[in-house]
Amino acid sequence: MSALFPALVPGPDDPRPAVRFGDRALTYGELRAAALRLTPRLAGADRVAVWAAPELETAVAVVAALLAGVPAVPLNPKTGERELTHIVTDSAPALVLAPPSAELPPVLAGLPRVDIPVEADRNTTTPPGPLPPEPDAESPALIVYTSGTTGPPKGAVLPRRAVAATLDALADAWAWTAEDVLVHALPLFHVHGLVLGVLGPLRRGGSVRHLGRFTTEGVARELTSGATMLFGVPTMYHRIAESLDTDTGLAKALAGARLLVSGSAALPLHDHERIAAATGRQVIERYGMTETLMQCSVRVDGGAASARAGSVGVPLHGVDLRLVEEDGTPITAYDGETVGEIQVRGPNLFTGYLNRPDATAAAFDGDWFRTGDMAVRDPDGSVRLVGRKATDLIKSGGYKIGAGEIENALLEHPAVKEAAVTGEPDPDLGERIVAWVVPADPGAPPSARELADHVAAQLAPHKRPRTVRLLDALPRNDLGKVMKRALHA
Ligand code: ATP
Ligand code: MG
Repeated sequence: MSALFPALVPGPDDPRPAVRFGDRALTYGELRAAALRLTPRLAGADRVAVWAAPELETAVAVVAALLAGVPAVPLNPKTGERELTHIVTDSAPALVLAPPSAELPPVLAGLPRVDIPVEADRNTTTPPGPLPPEPDAESPALIVYTSGTTGPPKGAVLPRRAVAATLDALADAWAWTAEDVLVHALPLFHVHGLVLGVLGPLRRGGSVRHLGRFTTEGVARELTSGATMLFGVPTMYHRIAESLDTDTGLAKALAGARLLVSGSAALPLHDHERIAAATGRQVIERYGMTETLMQCSVRVDGGAASARAGSVGVPLHGVDLRLVEEDGTPITAYDGETVGEIQVRGPNLFTGYLNRPDATAAAFDGDWFRTGDMAVRDPDGSVRLVGRKATDLIKSGGYKIGAGEIENALLEHPAVKEAAVTGEPDPDLGERIVAWVVPADPGAPPSARELADHVAAQLAPHKRPRTVRLLDALPRNDLGKVMKRALHA
């Protein structure tokens, strides 16, 4: 395989901007030098942990590990002790790379710590090591833990080949080039923020500007000073949608962006519509997983139809995708109605879960990976996600009902701020539709009857929630995904 980062090959004097976090930045030459000062420290390690704070050091550490051919395990600095212990015990890294300012928790005390002193190193005499030979394409690049939405996080072993394949397929779908400058505000320990948000620009030879913390002001500022694209999760686009009424500068900035991309969870139709109305721009959705990196996206050359709200577009270049019935029979109809589980295969796939041959075996049907996500295909071939098999497909009164469309309908109701829909056992219906609702005004919550009638009128009578439970907030993880398993706890 050619180099994972061809733009880092030219050498130390390359002045093109590569990464910026807040007001700290590195050119390609500086990034290469900083990473190569670290690579000799990693030699011989089986794998290394990276304390993945949203800082310049994280980019340097991950690039160093990738250049050295040592798999990196990004750690969530905000995660609880139990989850961190699980990940560190499971992945058994030889050492942990951390920004000098980071205070590491006791769980990591037993590991050798290597500081990543990016700034100080510019003045030291520590010379950068030589550029190591390019590792084998099948060797592991990263071990990324899944979000833990449906169970304890599992470590997905991602080979270099998968990282390169997914980034090149996205470049094809999005016409992503070295001219692009990305605005980034996502965490760096998942595929979205790390692989797409940091490694993506570096593979293209473009640059990334990380805000440290998401603010609509930061997004507007960067998009009006040279940045061309924004990657976000639905909670960010929701905040953008909420601000657009009062912030005309933000609307103008978004209108001028080349590309607005959302992923990691479904973007509610209500937010899609508000952003399109205020900016004239359609947010495009892409769909992926830790195990498969990216598999679908709306394409920039796909025309207006493929960018319609609710669609995650078409399979990316190189990705085979099929829908299957419960008994594994492939569904061939592109009728926009027949729901099946998505299975995928292609060069974007992981090689397995670390230490979990049982889970790896269960995840495959031959060479097809079972995503656990349910979808329909529209007549033009585009994929519309219905939800996760485990938590979003409700079997009620003989119908299979997707939670997502009911959530979208509830969000259209003016008295609803947030909504999640689940199924609960019911003696008559099999499962009963339950709506968990955060009211827009806690002093005047909507009645269960009102919400049920609203859903019945928008969708169909059998889709109305039988039970409504009011909450102050929905349980969400660091990417803003609703943790449905916590709702019943
Ligand atoms: P775990 O596997 O540990 O339960 P997780 O599945 O949330 O957690 P990730 O690999 O981070 O962990 O997330 C992948 C899932 O995110 C997909 O299977 C899909 O359900 C969801 N997802 C990703 N992109 C989208 C999107 N554009 N629209 C809707 N859902 C999405
Ligand atoms: Mg998953």
